[in-house]
Amino acid sequence: MLSAIAIAAHPDDIEFCMAGTLLLLKHAGWKIHCLNLSSGNLGSVEFSAAKTRSVRRIEAKRAAKVLGAHWHPPMCDDLEILYEVKTLRRLAAVIREVKPAVVLTHSPQDYMEDHTNTSRLTVTAAFSRGMPNFRTTPPRASIPGDVTVYHAMPHGLRDGLRRLIGPGAFVNTTGVHAIKREALAAHVSQKAWLDESQGMDSYLIAMDEMSKVVGKMSRRFKHAEGWRRHLPLGLSATDRDPLAEVLRKNYRVNAAC
Ligand SMILES: [Zn+2]
Repeated sequence: MLSAIAIAAHPDDIEFCMAGTLLLLKHAGWKIHCLNLSSGNLGSVEFSAAKTRSVRRIEAKRAAKVLGAHWHPPMCDDLEILYEVKTLRRLAAVIREVKPAVVLTHSPQDYMEDHTNTSRLTVTAAFSRGMPNFRTTPPRASIPGDVTVYHAMPHGLRDGLRRLIGPGAFVNTTGVHAIKREALAAHVSQKAWLDESQGMDSYLIAMDEMSKVVGKMSRRFKHAEGWRRHLPLGLSATDRDPLAEVLRKNYRVNAAC
């Protein structure tokens, strides 16, 4: 069975911009995995970091269950996702265990460093999968095979310098939007916090709006997720686009990019 893994920074990032694509892969018979590198321990103004960490762990597991995804525990705390070898060894071990054909992660340009560092760590962890002399934690043997890395749209659809980022391809998430929304709603602590500061259901509405904006960019789909495919060098022997192969009519290359 083919596998895909979404690797994001914070609990709820996957549900915001990657979960629709994961769900479509699941419907196509793939095994899907979720990993947020950070515990989300700073995501509260009300509770301690320790309490927030434990609440968000339960919520992230619940969200993965809604998606039907295998859940992997976080490795870092908020603002502490650094491009360093300790995390790289742990992430590389997960890649060797999951053996994904498709890896979904953040944009290399995004609004904050936890996202950009997650993107960099993920690319290197995938890159090192076939290198027997790179030690992973726990130790796992290197694996053969191609992997394709796709980068999600950045938060706000812009880089840190406000430049608009155009997706290389669109995935039609309209048919799975309701499940994606239900998975996002599993992050109850975040919803409650934002409901109070920004109005009822603002959390879910923000996700609706983002997928509608990307859908409009596609000129075809009502709800969509946007992706940019990493260069295959060091990752795949051929320039494959497995999402196009699997998702077919639910996938549209963006001719403008
Ligand atoms: Zn995030």
